[in-house]
Amino acid sequence: MDHRIDIGWTACEGDGLCAELLPDHVTLDEWGYPLVDSTPVPARTVKRARRAAADCPALAIKLTARAVP
Ligand code: SF4
Repeated sequence: MDHRIDIGWTACEGDGLCAELLPDHVTLDEWGYPLVDSTPVPARTVKRARRAAADCPALAIKLTARAVP
């Protein structure tokens, strides 16, 4: 099972909180909107990613789990 971060672009408010909470996976573009890398979230970071999703003021962060064949 691996986890990936997706952003709901129509909901994102561009406040940059996710980049502060998940600096290893999220950077900000020149307008302050998140750029998410496409790598799986390591198991040690999943709890922090869940918390970032819960703390996102727009609830725009989705953490999805996918089965690894
Ligand atoms: S914390 Fe949520 S609203 Fe803020 S920039 Fe990240 S995805 Fe967008």
